[in-house]
Amino acid sequence: MRFRLNFSYVYFLCFIIVMFLTSPTHAETKKISVVASFSIIGDLVQQVGGDHVGITMIVGPEEDAHVYQPSPADARKITQAEIIFINGLGFEGWLSRLINATKSKGTVVDLSSKIKARQTQGEIDPHVWQDVNNVKIYIQEICQALIAIDPNNGADYQKNSQLYIEKLSKLDNEIVESLTNIPLDDRRVVSTHDAFGYFSARYGVAFLAPQGVSTEAEASARDIARIIDAAKAQKVKAVFLENVADPRLARRISAETNARLGGTLYSDSLTGAKGDGATYLEMMRHNVKEIVRALKP
Ligand code: ZN
Repeated sequence: MRFRLNFSYVYFLCFIIVMFLTSPTHAETKKISVVASFSIIGDLVQQVGGDHVGITMIVGPEEDAHVYQPSPADARKITQAEIIFINGLGFEGWLSRLINATKSKGTVVDLSSKIKARQTQGEIDPHVWQDVNNVKIYIQEICQALIAIDPNNGADYQKNSQLYIEKLSKLDNEIVESLTNIPLDDRRVVSTHDAFGYFSARYGVAFLAPQGVSTEAEASARDIARIIDAAKAQKVKAVFLENVADPRLARRISAETNARLGGTLYSDSLTGAKGDGATYLEMMRHNVKEIVRALKP
C-alpha cells in the first residue's frame, strides 16, 4: 500500500513539471496582446511583430469599417489588449467611444498621427494606405510602439520593419512602372466611394466617385447624375466595383456611360486568406493589375 502511494506521488510531480514547461503562460512563449482596428492594420502589425504578437482584429476581411457596428465581443477584445492600433482620421469613427466605454488600459496608437492628411470636398480623407509610401510611416509607428512595450525583442521588430519597408519600396516602383504605358489622358476611372485620393496623388490615376470619403452616407440621385455627366465628358474608361461597396451603383454608372465595368478593387479591406488580397502587398498588386487591365490601350 505504501509503495503504491509513493509511486502515485512521483507520477503527480512529473505531471506538474510537464504542465509547467508546456504552459502557454510560461514567460518564453507569452505574446503581446494586440488589437488592430481593421484587416489592413492587422496585416501590417503581423509583419512587424512576427511571433511576438497575438493579434485580434475588430473589423475583419471583406468588412466595411466605415459603417461597422461593434459587438460586446469587440469590447472584450479591447479590454484584454495591451496595445490597440487604429487608423484614425475618422476612419473608425465608432472606435474611440468603444475604447472609452471599456476603460481599457491598453496603449492606443493612432497610426496616421504623422501623416499630412488629404482633404476632399471639405472632408478629411482617411484612406492613407492607398499611397504605399504612407505605409512606411505606419510601419515605423508600429515598430516604435512594439519596442516601447517589449524592448527585449526590439532588434526583431527593427529587422522585420526594415525588411518590410524594402518590400514596400519595391511595390511602389512596381506600381509606377506598370502604369507607365497608359497615357495620362486614359487614366480616368470611377469607383463607388472616394477611397483612392492618395493613390491618385501618388500614381496619377484620377478617380471619380459618387459617394464621399465614407460609405456612411448613400450617394444621392444628384451625386450619381453628376458623376455620370463627368464620366461622359471626361471619356472615363472604366468603372470599378469595390469589395466594401454595393455593386449596383457601379453597374448602373457603367451602363449609362458606356465605360467598361472593371474588376473589383480592394479599397478599405483585405480579402480572406483564400482571396487574392489576403495581405496589403497582395491587395495593392491586385488593384493595380485590375486598373492596368481595364485601361491598357
Ligand atoms: Zn473608405
